[in-house]
Amino acid sequence: MLYDIIIVGGGPAGLTAAIYARRSGRTVLLLEKEGFGGQIAFSPRVDNYPGVPYVSGAELAEQMLSQALALDTDTDIGTVCAIRNENGVKTVLTEEGDSYTGRCVIIAAGARHRQLGLPGENELIGQGVSYCAVCDGGFYAGGTVAVAGGGDSALQEALLLSDICETVYVIHRRREFRGDVEKQKRLFARENVRVLTPMNITALHARDGALASVTLADAGTGAERELAVDALFVSVGMVPALGAFADVLPLTNDGYAALGEDCISPAAGIFAAGDCRAKSVRQLTTAVADGACAALSACRYLEVT
Ligand code: NAP
Repeated sequence: MLYDIIIVGGGPAGLTAAIYARRSGRTVLLLEKEGFGGQIAFSPRVDNYPGVPYVSGAELAEQMLSQALALDTDTDIGTVCAIRNENGVKTVLTEEGDSYTGRCVIIAAGARHRQLGLPGENELIGQGVSYCAVCDGGFYAGGTVAVAGGGDSALQEALLLSDICETVYVIHRRREFRGDVEKQKRLFARENVRVLTPMNITALHARDGALASVTLADAGTGAERELAVDALFVSVGMVPALGAFADVLPLTNDGYAALGEDCISPAAGIFAAGDCRAKSVRQLTTAVADGACAALSACRYLEVT
């Protein structure tokens, strides 16, 4: 089947694009590599999405998916590894060996967790190093954990962990936190939260194959100390997941799709939306805005070709 629009990525941007494209009468295939909902599905509480305060991210994601499915969006699971663009037809290829054809592609591939880049970090994933407190926090209930980062995600992870862990260290490379002030107030008021700034984590130490401690270096003086922890939750931002699309999208130096708010790329019929697009604010609201813009741009493209 030749779809009107293939959407790569089933997070809020991709789901919104599907809803808008289906409501415009276009055939749509939504491809996702893991679970629909993207990063938001791991957010325990979303309280800044207008109209639906205090909803869990998983519930909101489920509602977006239900809405897209009720509009007869086709979906499939697969990790897209390349897009071929020949004679106006886009062939989307997956690592699993599947291929799909469409007249347009909207790339809403989102972003993945940035790592600290320390020796042993990859080997210790699941053995004390985690990037998701919602997923792994329960393993360390009653324990001593650290969260690295100073953005909204780090604050949110620390809040969640402080509900279940004995002690939560929040380790940030600067004294000022980037995350919102309301979350900072809530977090720093908790008795089991200790803030360590300005500190860099410079080494991970394992015992019996699991993380046992981290080395902290004072960002001002360079003085080092070792901190014993049961787990380290790394929450230092995201990096765009556009490696497979470098030949069809213009990218900024840091790897984001260098497209304007209309989400239109120089390659006819290819669009990018959501957290993978270069922009100054990455929020749920801006992701869904992108999804709508990309779908409407794609529909306009289909009308004139
Ligand atoms: P972020 O806002 O980019 O914050 C990343 C944090 O990690 C920053 O504090 C940064 O430090 C630190 N960092 C970056 N690279 C580092 C490194 N190599 N070593 C140590 N620290 C490093 O990322 P985020 O917290 O994942 O949030 C992403 C977006 O989602 C943001 O726009 C955020 O507002 C939004 N979000 C919103 C909510 C909400 O409830 N409203 C929840 C989660 C996320 P510096 O500050 O020094 O640069």
